[in-house]
Amino acid sequence: MDFKKKEILNTYPEPVNGVLYVVGTPIGNLGDLSPRAKSVLKQVSAIACEDTRYSGKLIRSLESKAPLFSFHRHNTQSRIPKLLSLLKDGKSLALISDAGLPGISDPGEHLVSAARKEGHEVICIPGPCAATTALISSGLPSERFCFEGFLPIKRKQRKERLEMIASETRTSIIYESPHRLLQLLEELSQACGDSRPLQVARELTKRHEQHIGPTIGSALKYFEEHQPIGELTLVLGGAIRATQKLHDNSTLLAEMKAVIEDGGSANEAARMISKKTGHSKRNLYNLLHKTKNIDGDIF
Ligand code: SAM
Repeated sequence: MDFKKKEILNTYPEPVNGVLYVVGTPIGNLGDLSPRAKSVLKQVSAIACEDTRYSGKLIRSLESKAPLFSFHRHNTQSRIPKLLSLLKDGKSLALISDAGLPGISDPGEHLVSAARKEGHEVICIPGPCAATTALISSGLPSERFCFEGFLPIKRKQRKERLEMIASETRTSIIYESPHRLLQLLEELSQACGDSRPLQVARELTKRHEQHIGPTIGSALKYFEEHQPIGELTLVLGGAIRATQKLHDNSTLLAEMKAVIEDGGSANEAARMISKKTGHSKRNLYNLLHKTKNIDGDIF
């Protein structure tokens, strides 16, 4: 390549010794591996990856001779000193994950932070990421958004996180495995109401890519009829801020009182008004209980 062309493309020799390269790899479609990522993975001194057998196939297809070191959530802390010693010895090191951008819902951030603390240069070679790919194809607001990754498994933390997500006004992105999808959709329906906008992105970049929505209710119905399989990312529309501002406590109480007078329970009243206004169900429920009369009845 002549100098002028290199300058236009802003290319320069890589990998450089002593540098940690955080390399994005495809989330399904191998055509998404960038020429820069290919070149670095082919020439780098060593590669850290979650599963050496799985990533070995990709690395061998690039004719890379770099040795692979496993780096996953079960050996994160014990492996970091070895990987840093490679950088210290002047080797170049690439970090990849099973798919997508390392550091997004995997232990990549710990290696990057340790490398920076030791004064090593870290360069990210960007590539596909399921979160942004799902967000952009969802049609939901992308000006401001929150990445939630996988929700906590423990009941208490999960409940708290779901409540935070329910009152979040920005678009939220959630990762989930197929065998927990139905449970998550039911939890989201309970916390946010069925009509909250939602798109489930399935098998992004692959032959059977699918987008299922447009609401929590319709996605729930679809997956009750079709067994969830493959890789899934959820994009959830935010709670409506404008409506929240229009409702002060006395209006909210009056609306919940009307539901209770119609025979609904306190729980149902909080759920319905949460769905309507975007206020968190928990806060509404607490508001109801703060206003018990002398006999302990609500109002
Ligand atoms: N580092 C990856 C990234 O940049 O997206 C994410 C790794 S995380 C361990 C794996 C989760 O990402 C999956 O459980 C799924 O929620 C999501 N995911 C990965 N590939 C996907 C795909 N092709 N379609 C939809 N979601 C995907």
